[in-house]
This record gives sequence, C-alpha cells and structure tokens, in this order.
Amino acid sequence: MKYDSELNIAIEAVKKACSLCITVQSSLVSEETMIKKDKSPVTVADFGVQAIICHELKKAFPNDPIVAEEDSADLKTEEGKALSQKVFEYASKVLPELKEEEIHATIDSGDYDGGPEGRFWTLDPIDGTKGFLRGQQYAVALALVENGEVVLGVLGCPNLARDLEKPESHKGAIFSAVIGEGSYIQFFEDISDKKINVSDIDHPTLAPFCESVESAHSSHGDSKQIAQILGVTAEPIRIDSQCKYAVLARGDASIYLRLPTSKDYVEKIWDHAAGYIIVKEAGGRVTDILGSDLDFSLGRTLSNNKGVVGTNGELHDLVISAVIEVLNSK
Ligand code: AMP
Ligand code: MG
Repeated sequence: MKYDSELNIAIEAVKKACSLCITVQSSLVSEETMIKKDKSPVTVADFGVQAIICHELKKAFPNDPIVAEEDSADLKTEEGKALSQKVFEYASKVLPELKEEEIHATIDSGDYDGGPEGRFWTLDPIDGTKGFLRGQQYAVALALVENGEVVLGVLGCPNLARDLEKPESHKGAIFSAVIGEGSYIQFFEDISDKKINVSDIDHPTLAPFCESVESAHSSHGDSKQIAQILGVTAEPIRIDSQCKYAVLARGDASIYLRLPTSKDYVEKIWDHAAGYIIVKEAGGRVTDILGSDLDFSLGRTLSNNKGVVGTNGELHDLVISAVIEVLNSK
C-alpha cells in the first residue's frame, strides 16, 4: 500500500504522544488547576508532544519538513527553564532516547512554511487545549500533505468514548486514513483496526450535527438558525478539537459546522488536515462555508477559505444552501 511506512510511523508517533498526554493529564490536572484555568499542564503536553512527534518523523523521514503549531521561544527564556525541564521529564518517559538539548531544536523543526510543492507533515500537538484543561475532548492531529493535497491523516483521541452515549465507556481511539484507502479506527486497547463510514442519513431532520464547545470558535447562534432551516431536531453535539471530524467520520454525527465568528480569523492547516482526510475517506465531504474545497497549498493557513462545513456527503448541498441563507441574512 502507498504510504505504508508513513502511516505506521505516524500512528506509532501519535500513540506515544497520546500516552504523554494521558500521563500529564492524570498527574498534573488536578481539580484545582482546572478551576484556576492554569495553563501549565497543557503547555507541558503541547511541547512534549511536538518534541516526540517531530523527533520520530525526523528519524524516519529526515528530509520531510514539518508545519507544526508550537515553537520553543518560551522554553528558551530564563522563566521558561522550569517548564523546559518538565517537558523533558515527561517526554523522556515516552521516548528515553530524547535528550534535553535536542528538545528545543526538535520542536523548532516544525517551523516550515508549507506551500504547494513537495511533501510536508502538519501537526497540531494538542488540538482543543480548552477541552484538555476541562478534562474533556482533545486530539493529537498529524497529516501528510503532498503537492498541496492531504494524503494521510492520523488523529489520536485519548478521551473519546467508543459510545458517545456512555462517556466513560472504553475511552481512547486512533483514527487514520490514507488517500484512496478508506478510514479506520483502532481502539487503544486493541491492535486490530476497523473500517469506518459516515452515516447514510439522507434527510436533515434525522441528522445530528456537531460544533465547537467554544462559541468564540464557531457561532452557536448561526448554527441554531441553520438547524431550524434544515429541520434538525437533535441537540448539537458539542465537542472540542478535531474529535468532531472523528465523530462525523464514524457516523455519530452527520454534519459538522464551523461558522466564522469574526471576519479576520484565518483557519490553520494543522487544525483541519488530519480530520479532513479522515472524513473524506470515510465517504463524507468537507468544504468551507461557501462549498469550496479546503486549499492546503497556501502555506500555514487556509487563507482562501472561510469556516468549515463537513457532512456525510448526502446532505452537503442542502447544508451549504442553509448556511449561505443564514449568513446572507445577517
Ligand atoms: P475547537 O476545539 O474545534 O473549538 O477548535 C480549537 C481550535 O480553534 C484551536 O486549535 C485554535 O487554533 C482554533 N481557534 C482559535 N480561535 C479561533 C476562532 N476565532 N475561530 C475559529 N477557530 C479558532
Ligand atoms: Mg488546534
């Protein structure tokens, strides 16, 4: 299979990263830090994950550049010393060969600008940091882009339940997709994987939709109006991070709305690349709010797109018309 070794390396790297996240969350996120909204746990995990995944990618594919969210500037300051030491402590539990001196440079290997030519990886070490801090959903998101096209994606979702109705049931899954090969789920406790498909719902009244927990990231008011036009009766499924794409890809939701809350916000490629291919390979569609394909060839951002609409495919045109109707009426 094409991209076989890339897929194996990416899955293993994301699994290692997820175990760091789980350790950090269980040892650092006390109720107290959550109440105080102390960002340090998520910062340690963010840097630690970026170090681990960039290290694994550089070892396997030394010539592949990486577009990742973080850089090491904060770790290099005098005030950042303690944080840097903590990142090393946690990262070396997962990857003992990673030395402290390597960490900053490894994190900074994610500084590539992206673009239309050649291939590069894109990484969001912890997507959904607010969900991580609340002890809810977050994702480690890694994708490979070749000549502007997403060709492989892996999403690690440590807190995602096997059954959304039972939030504490069998948590943790890796979702993956390679172009032309379909999408798969592998539960943390299993070694085998299972093909996933979007729902086959063909009427919007039956279609649950998902959106951000944070209304600053996606307008809840607009989605409510869109749901009314479509006749969607179910309450929105609100979850942080690219877990929304995962939930759409496995058919728990049939629509994902990310509706701009400001004129100026530009979506980042690492916030969408992995989820985008996982939904598409599961049979769904992903576009921006006007129905245009997402363009990953323009650098670190999706500068030609506004917002995101994902669906099971069947419902896409209907949903886009409702989105346009609501946005035009404003
Ligand atoms: P979610 O968990 O889906 O709400 O999305 C989390 C991501 O939203 C973060 O990784 C941020 O990069 C991104 N983000 C930050 N501000 C905004 C905004 N104003 N609109 C949309 N996304 C945003
Ligand atoms: Mg993110």
